[in-house]
Amino acid sequence: MCRHLAWIGAPRSVASIVLDPPFGLLRQSYAPRRQRRGLMNADGWGVGFYRPGVAEPARWRSARPLWGDASFASVAPALVSGCILAAVRSATVGMPIEESAAAPFVSGRWLLSHNGRVDRDVLKADRIAESACDSAWLAAEVFAAGPESLGEIVLDIAGRDPDAVLNLLVTDGRRVLATTWGDSLSVRTGPDGVLVASEPTDDEPGWLDVPDRSLVGVIDGRVEVRGMESSC
Ligand code: GLN
Repeated sequence: MCRHLAWIGAPRSVASIVLDPPFGLLRQSYAPRRQRRGLMNADGWGVGFYRPGVAEPARWRSARPLWGDASFASVAPALVSGCILAAVRSATVGMPIEESAAAPFVSGRWLLSHNGRVDRDVLKADRIAESACDSAWLAAEVFAAGPESLGEIVLDIAGRDPDAVLNLLVTDGRRVLATTWGDSLSVRTGPDGVLVASEPTDDEPGWLDVPDRSLVGVIDGRVEVRGMESSC
């Protein structure tokens, strides 16, 4: 499984969210602590973030390991945003390793990342996906259906593929939505914002582990966690 995270709150540098935390995405790219499948996330990375007054996010992706990208490490302290979504990738067997297969996927003002796997045969292949990767197909289907309905979409796809792992993370820059369906997720609410992450990025207090099969919504600094099967 890959690892992903999203920050929404006061403006922060991309480096402070993605690279600097002791167990953040940089560390998770070679030594994740809660990953259930795969030992590391060396098959690419990506970050998307929003700028004031611009609805559509900026995005930077790579098919290389995050730890080897000195250019990104140099620029990331200068990229500042109040909403950042980032991911590191461990490719599922059979999936292409290419920049366009790395999350976040983008459509208009939405960013999406997927920890997990899904049988492409159950997805609607007529959607225009960024890559042949299962996560890209899944992203295309979520974008087409409307990411606001993330819980319903995940339940629908899980019904089509009972073995699917569907931890999804989406944002439009104003709210963050996430699901747990087969993999880990933690949330920490602070005075200046909320961090949602596949696993805690440090050992400081305040992390809440989200139960499996939950839908998480973050808007205006408030976090709501609901059981998906009862709520959708
Ligand atoms: N299935 C996706 C891919 O191949 C995501 C993999 C993952 O979560 N490790 O990229």
